[in-house]
Amino acid sequence: MEYKTTIGLEIHAELATKTKMFCPSLNYPDEKRPNVNVCPICMAHPGTLPTINKEAVKHVLRVGLALGGDLAMGFSEFDRKNYFYPDIPKGFQISQFKYPLVSGGKLNGIDVTRVHLEEDTAKSYHFDGKKDTYLDYNRAGLPLMELVTEPVIHNARQAGDFARELQLLLRYLGVSGANMERGQMRVEANISVSKTEQFGTKVEVKNLNSFKAVEHAIDYEVKRHIEVLEGGGEIIQETRGWDENSQKTFSQRAKENSHDYRYFPEPDLPKLKLNLVPEFQNLKATLPELPWERRERLLRFGITSEAAEIFVESVTIGNFFEKVTEKLSGKIELVKLASNYITSDLMSLMKDDQEKSLNVEDFVALLRMTDSGEVSSRGAKDILAVIVNDGGSPKKIAEDRGLFQKSDVTELKTICQEIVSENPTVAADYRGGKKASLQFLIGQGMKKSGGSANPKVLRDIFMELLQ
Ligand SMILES: [Zn+2]
Repeated sequence: MEYKTTIGLEIHAELATKTKMFCPSLNYPDEKRPNVNVCPICMAHPGTLPTINKEAVKHVLRVGLALGGDLAMGFSEFDRKNYFYPDIPKGFQISQFKYPLVSGGKLNGIDVTRVHLEEDTAKSYHFDGKKDTYLDYNRAGLPLMELVTEPVIHNARQAGDFARELQLLLRYLGVSGANMERGQMRVEANISVSKTEQFGTKVEVKNLNSFKAVEHAIDYEVKRHIEVLEGGGEIIQETRGWDENSQKTFSQRAKENSHDYRYFPEPDLPKLKLNLVPEFQNLKATLPELPWERRERLLRFGITSEAAEIFVESVTIGNFFEKVTEKLSGKIELVKLASNYITSDLMSLMKDDQEKSLNVEDFVALLRMTDSGEVSSRGAKDILAVIVNDGGSPKKIAEDRGLFQKSDVTELKTICQEIVSENPTVAADYRGGKKASLQFLIGQGMKKSGGSANPKVLRDIFMELLQ
């Protein structure tokens, strides 16, 4: 029997709110100065009491709705997760254990176990040449969403895709920047392999701060597990880190079981009866078009799945594409042309400067000029670059730069007649039904005109001459 891989994910996302989870300190992760956004509550001074950030609760409920999970509208509560570490001033973290805000749901076909709300820890720093650990409490107490999947993922790609789709969802909902490199979204993977129906011993891999890291770490672990087992060894239940440089996981510590945290209901916070909070009642109406809905709709335009993915990922570029298509009266060739230009030429032109905006009308005019053969595709690229950098109408730019292709029938007819008399065999082939010969003749026409002829006009003339 083959080894079967089983993976479950735990994903944390820092929520975008004005203030921290349980106090009025600012939620501003970009703050450069350490220990600025702190107050007696998030620094756990004696006698202070937490209050719940409604905005954070609302964010998690909207995620739950998008996933199709059950929202704990009747009852929910926060718990204390007890552990002692300097990044956690109270000596415990306020989290949710028994009654998470969301239970169940699905993303990318993968079952979600739960989504709950907790608070983030401080950030530890180590400086070269100094042996001390430095702590910045700006992050301590930021609202953190944790999503846990069922152990139903079977390979690295599936895990990576799940994380990518979740990132999109969080961004669409506006609940988190979900930038992995910046630690706004952090993935942990629980991995095991087994030859039987029973799960193997699982290992948790942390510090995965890119989608590539998620996938590479899983592939590495699966291989390591199989090698250990095949060598007669045993997998130890532990937490491992991912080393980006060596592309290897390494042992960090033996894994605690949940009872080690001595969870108990947080006595300083009220129980949550969310169905009594008016602003949580019609949240479904606040959901935007979701990433998978947008993807499905865009694919119906007849564009490639790669292009659709680009338009799902970048809402700005996707919206530009949609505005363009509205003006193309459903002409599929033009829609495809638009999609190609936007995903290749336009995106590389805009890369350095996201601020550059392009006028929809100008872009559509350029598409039509290309489609009719008035300008060559090479010419269109040049025009596009000018429009993006300096603006202006594509017609004017084509005129100024002599990029219009020759469409003068009388002039081109002379060239075509010459070509036909120079290539009697090809002409005869075409008349005999060999359609491909026409392409050769058009090629000759382009050559003879020094690349300035409109190939569409050439085609029409040749077809007429050879009738
Ligand atoms: Zn505070």
